[in-house]
Amino acid sequence: MSTSHTFESYASRDIRLGDLQIARALPIRQRRMVGPWCFLDRFGPVSFGEVSPMDIAPHPHIGLQTITWLLAGEVRHNDSLGYEAVATPGVVNVMTAGRGIAHAERTPVANSGRLSGVQLWAALPDAHRAMEPAFESIAQVPAVELPGGVIRLFSGTLEGTTSPATHYSGILGADLTIHSGAALAFDVQPSYEHALMLLEGNCEFEGNPLQQQRLYSLGTHRASAAFRSKGGGRVLLIGGIPFAEQILMWWNFVARTHDEIVEARTDWVEHRRFGEVPAHPGPRLEAPDLSDLARPNPIS
Ligand code: MN
Repeated sequence: MSTSHTFESYASRDIRLGDLQIARALPIRQRRMVGPWCFLDRFGPVSFGEVSPMDIAPHPHIGLQTITWLLAGEVRHNDSLGYEAVATPGVVNVMTAGRGIAHAERTPVANSGRLSGVQLWAALPDAHRAMEPAFESIAQVPAVELPGGVIRLFSGTLEGTTSPATHYSGILGADLTIHSGAALAFDVQPSYEHALMLLEGNCEFEGNPLQQQRLYSLGTHRASAAFRSKGGGRVLLIGGIPFAEQILMWWNFVARTHDEIVEARTDWVEHRRFGEVPAHPGPRLEAPDLSDLARPNPIS
């Protein structure tokens, strides 16, 4: 094992989204991105006896893709293109905001009473960030069975298997199951930077025990990754080619300049560009005050 590789641990920030407690692993002060990934929220596990179901009113996005991946429960997506899709474990929902889209996310009426998952955002590179918006739901992401566990691949390629999800720069998103008492190892792209988050159970990465609510940055130049679990565990592995462009994030927008943010916010307030989400009646989310522009704090 090389000791020259990066292994840095960052505490997530506690965020409240309605009734839901969220661990925000990206962006944090010390780390803004991992490859194109610029946002990572871990929500749950919760039961709806303790908290209310998810109900996020229509809100806009630009310049990014949202990726919703669940370990338990259900989240229904409705957008201004007219798409409706319920995410459940094994499904990945990928919404490409491009120049602008609005969507709502909520727990469907028929639900399991539980919720556990992640939502990630991938920044779109300059060549694609003004594209027309799009949405895809992949009913069953590819799973690679290895002796020590299973790789569920929602974005990118590992072990010769590629997720059908459409992306616009080198990217990796995988949910690793490490069986109890087992070791899981595989090759990764040395040109990618990578990061880990423990989702369930327990797991060690190259001898380092992982804790929940933390992001572990692995840097670039790794050719392989090795995990071991005593009682079984699940780990989120994200990565990608280090993003070459400087992004500006504010609320639900990924842009390059303040002017673009101001314009997108005005278009939302004045009901232009993004469209409506008729499947989710009731009030939309209001844009925060622009005085917050100096302190980017995206919600979801
Ligand atoms: Mn959203």
